[in-house]
Formats: sequence, C-alpha cells, structure tokens
Amino acid sequence: MEEILDYPCSCGGKLKKSFCNVEFFSIDFGERACEVCNSCGSEFLDDATLGEIETEVKKRKIFGLERQIKVGKSGNSLVLRVPPEIAAFTNTTVDKMVRIFPISKNKIEIELL
Ligand SMILES: [Zn+2]
Repeated sequence: MEEILDYPCSCGGKLKKSFCNVEFFSIDFGERACEVCNSCGSEFLDDATLGEIETEVKKRKIFGLERQIKVGKSGNSLVLRVPPEIAAFTNTTVDKMVRIFPISKNKIEIELL
C-alpha cells in the first residue's frame, strides 16, 4: 500500500508514506513513520518524532555542542557567529548557503543547504 502525498519534495520528486529506521547520534529510535522522496531519496520525519528525538538527544547530552553566543552587528544586519565546534560538526564553511527562518518569536532555525 503506497500512499503518494499531494505535496512534493523540495527537489520536485513525489513523497510517499513509508517507514524508516531512525538513528540519530548513535541513538536507535526504531522504525518510524516517515515520508520518502521517490526522486532524491530524502526521508522526512513528522514533527512528533522530531520532537521526541530532540528531547532524547538533549537529555543524553550526546554531542554537547550547545553554545551561547552573542548577537553582533555588521552594517544593517545582525551577525550570529557559528562556534567552531558546531561548524566542524555540521561541515559549515565560509560561503556555504543556509536558509534562515523564524520558527516562533523566540526561535530561529538555520538549515544548511
Ligand atoms: Zn526529493
């Protein structure tokens, strides 16, 4: 039973409902419902599963990479500096493109492209 979803993957491929074996930071979360792209193979988890993973990872402090940084200023823009440990872990380098968007009034998400 394949259920094709009515919204596409960001690559333009079709998404279908499936189950993925989910593992993050060496924590095995077992088999979870997910959406898989038939074109690029990307797997997407639902918000509930992501929330659970986030909570578990924070609880275990697996990677201990959380840092507090101070907002700087450059021209009219504010500047957030990525600490070297986080840059290394995420393979973020100079000139890399990222997408930045507010999730709520007190949370900004940065997605590495
Ligand atoms: Zn895709």
